[in-house]
Order: sequence, then C-alpha cells, then structure tokens
Amino acid sequence: MYDVLIIGAGVVGGMIARELSGFRLSVAVLEKENDVARGATGANSGIVHAGFDAKTGTLKAKLNVLGCAMMEKVAAELGVRYEKCGSMVVAFGDEQDKTVRELCDRGIANGVPELSILTGDEARKIEPALSGNITSVLLAPTAGIICPYSLAIAAVGCAMDNGAELFLNTEVTGVEKTSGGYVITSKDGRKFESRFVVNCAGLYSDKVAEFAGKCDFSVRPRSGEYMLCDKDAGELVSHTVFKVPTKMGKGILVSPTAHGNLILGPTSTDIDDKEDKSTTAAGLELIAKGVSESVDNVPLRSVITSFTGLRAVGSTGDFIINESEGFVNCAGIESPGLTSAPAIAVYVRNLLIGAGMDPDRKEDWNPGRKIYKADPKKYGRIICRCETVSEGEIISAIHTNPGATDIDGIKKRTRSGMGRCQGGFCQPFVAEILARELGVSLLEITKSGSGSELLMGKTKEAGI
Ligand SMILES: Cc1cc2nc3c(=O)[nH]c(=O)nc-3n(C[C@H](O)[C@H](O)[C@H](O)COP(=O)(O)OP(=O)(O)OC[C@H]3O[C@@H](n4cnc5c(N)ncnc54)[C@H](O)[C@@H]3O)c2cc1C
Repeated sequence: MYDVLIIGAGVVGGMIARELSGFRLSVAVLEKENDVARGATGANSGIVHAGFDAKTGTLKAKLNVLGCAMMEKVAAELGVRYEKCGSMVVAFGDEQDKTVRELCDRGIANGVPELSILTGDEARKIEPALSGNITSVLLAPTAGIICPYSLAIAAVGCAMDNGAELFLNTEVTGVEKTSGGYVITSKDGRKFESRFVVNCAGLYSDKVAEFAGKCDFSVRPRSGEYMLCDKDAGELVSHTVFKVPTKMGKGILVSPTAHGNLILGPTSTDIDDKEDKSTTAAGLELIAKGVSESVDNVPLRSVITSFTGLRAVGSTGDFIINESEGFVNCAGIESPGLTSAPAIAVYVRNLLIGAGMDPDRKEDWNPGRKIYKADPKKYGRIICRCETVSEGEIISAIHTNPGATDIDGIKKRTRSGMGRCQGGFCQPFVAEILARELGVSLLEITKSGSGSELLMGKTKEAGI
C-alpha cells in the first residue's frame, strides 16, 4: 500500500513526486509510456513565463507567478539549464499598443515584478533584430528559458533517489475507491493500492478522472507546430519575442532555447486526435510568415527539425486542480504549466495535507540528483559530433535515475542526435552502447519504445 500514487510522469507528475519525496511517504509514479516526459512536457516552447497572460485571480495566474519565481532555484538544485533571458511582447499599431498596456496592467495585478513598456526604438536598441514596424513592447525581465524535458527527467530522478518508485509501461485503466484509499489497475492487469491518488495524466486526465468517478470537465488537444534552428542561429535574439496573444494562445514566438538553438512557433489548432503529432506544410508556412513579421532575417535555412506538441486544453479555461476523497486532479494544465509545475507541486502537497496526509519532513532529503559516473576514459570518446556528446555521458544517462532505455531517451538526456545531422552519424553507436549497457540484443533497441525497433534482423542470418 502506497501513501501516494501519481498517474503521469510529465513535468507536473515529476515535480509533485519530487516534492512528496521530501517527506516520509511511500510514493510511486505510474506512466503509460516507456519513458518520462513523452507528453506535452516533451514538446513545447520551454519558456518560463513571467505571468502577465493569465486572467487575474485564476489559479493559472497565481501558480505561474509563483512558479516563475521558484524556477531559478529548482533548476539549479536539479542541474537543469535555465536562463533568465526576459521576454518581449511586440505590438504593431495603436490597437496592439493598447493590448500591450492591458497586459502590463494585468501583469502588475498578478504580481509580476519589473514590467515596463518600451517604444519600438527603445526595444530595438536592446534587441536589434526586431522589426522596424514594431511600435511598442512589453518587457518582462523575469521570464526565462529552460529545457522542459530535462526538468521533468531530473525531477523524477530526484524523487527516485529519495525513495520514490517509477513504473513505466504502466497505463492506468481503472481506479476503484476502497475504504482505505484506492486500487488502481493497469492495462496489463497489475493492481496498485494507495491512500491518495494524484491524476497528472495530461491529455488523458479527463479519462483517468472518469475512471475514479471524479470528472466534471473535459480535455481536448490543441496542436502546436514548431521549427527548430541550428545553434548558428541561436543568437539572433536574446529575449523570447512574443506577438500579442489571441484567444488561441500566446501566438508565434521567436526565442533562444536553453541549449542555444533558436525556436520558432507554435501554431495553435484545435484537433480531435489526442495522438496526432504530425507537422503540416501549412503550419510551417504560417510559422515562417509569423516570425518574419516580428524579427528581421530569421534564417529559415538553418531549420534542422520540426515537431508538434499537444496542449491539454481544459473545458474550464483555468488549471483544474482539486481534491475529493483523497483523489487529486491536475488537469487542463496547458501553458504556463511548465512554468507553474514547481508551484503546482507545493499546491498539491498542501491539498493532500488538507485531505489527511500527515507527513514528517525527511532531514536527509536531497533536492538534487545522484549522477552516475562512468569510467573516466569513456568521456574521451565523442559519439555525437554535432553536440559533442561523449560515450561517458551516454553511459551515465543509462545508469542515472530514471535511466534511458532507447534512442530518444538518450537524445533527451544527453542531446546526442539533437544537432544538425539529427542522429544520422551517432545513432548506430548509441544503439550499440544501449544494448551493451542494458545487456540486451541490438535487435531489441528501439527509437521510442515497443514498435519502433531500429533493426529487423541480421542481414546474413536472413540470407540477404
Ligand atoms: C505547444 C505547446 C507549447 C507550450 N509552451 C509552454 C511554455 O513555453 N511554457 C510553459 O510554461 N508551458 C508551456 N506549455 C505547457 C506545458 O508543456 C504543459 O503545461 C506541461 O508540460 C504539462 O505537463 P503534464 O505533466 O501535466 O502533462 P504531460 O507532459 O502531457 O504528461 C502527462 C503524462 O501522463 C501520461 N499518461 C496519460 N494517460 C495515462 C494513463 N492512463 N496511465 C499512465 N500514464 C498516463 C502521459 O503518457 C504523459 O507522460 C506548452 C504546451 C504545448 C503543447
């Protein structure tokens, strides 16, 4: 019997697990995929929003501002790249100048510090690539950039190092109330008992809440397509440059990433299929047009990949975080959910305490992670030339909690395969290292879990 079971190992489930691992509690995380951070956390803008977007008084506004203030410390503790680069919302003409002033007023009401409005010329002095057509800018120096999946991986790793368990390939298909708590059933028939349950299942949090009979909301997917430029374009802008928001979101941005690339996007399209992560020619054209309006000379020739993330848009317009009979929903956690995650974790911990969880703090809690050290010689062999990743780093990623087991897992932990050649050179070497370190056949190595095996068989064995 666990004290708390968390369903979903995205950044929200991960940060909650980390928070609870600071107490004398038995905690486990159940994740349907074969790795953490495979949902929205794995594909988003990676912006730590200052907090002026959300309507004053909402949970989104409150947890955004708190999360933004917490992020620098959390990232440092977890060894995750974070940079307080500041953000700009750029306006074109009178109508949008007015929106920028409204956003500034809303930010001040939400408690965002250091906001100011610049003229277009003032803004171009700090950010020379901004379009000459920009008439005013909302500057938010407290905004930042972070690697979203690194944050989730590190948070889960910290929780595991402090005693939490992680069950991958564990899709929750049933939640039953008992006198002492809940029995959770997974698709393959395993049962997990727990006093408290926290539902952080992202796009499927409505389904999981329904299993428990605690669903009065729905969650639908809104796709966001991106283009990512090589590092040679990473210094085009030093701030995150947003357009004025619309009812579909914060609009198309141009931003440096925490790893020195330049990210362009996202689009914003309501779709029906919760698994549709395709990119479209129309979406990429829209991004190209959108970014060239706010920033001059965006080097589209430097685009090295494109991808899509799916927002989990809740039916209430706000984050849906509530507790009933020891069952906590964390649903509709769309943007700024990444920013808010550290604050959501504290909020959920307090909800659980309100529901009767009575934990003692651990004196010896480590807010960071234990990083596995490979044989020093292995750090001298470079496997990924684009990102200069060594064999030692790859071995470390396999043996540090939560360990990578496939090509994408290595990619997200070490950046091997993230560069200009997108793994064309290093992937076979990474596969060999994975097979060797995990003690499995090369034929079992996958790109991203079962069904994405890299190899079908040995050519000579097949008689080819
Ligand atoms: C395009 C886009 C741009 C964004 N930009 C930003 C940004 O710049 N800044 C910001 O702050 N936020 C941003 N966000 C929002 C942010 O990414 C999310 O709020 C955050 O990642 C949500 O984390 P999560 O853990 O709730 O969900 P997820 O990361 O989706 O995790 C949910 C997990 O639950 C698992 N799961 C689902 N069903 C089950 C089940 N039945 N059993 C077991 N496991 C299950 C999934 O596999 C998944 O791993 C953006 C989102 C998108 C899509």
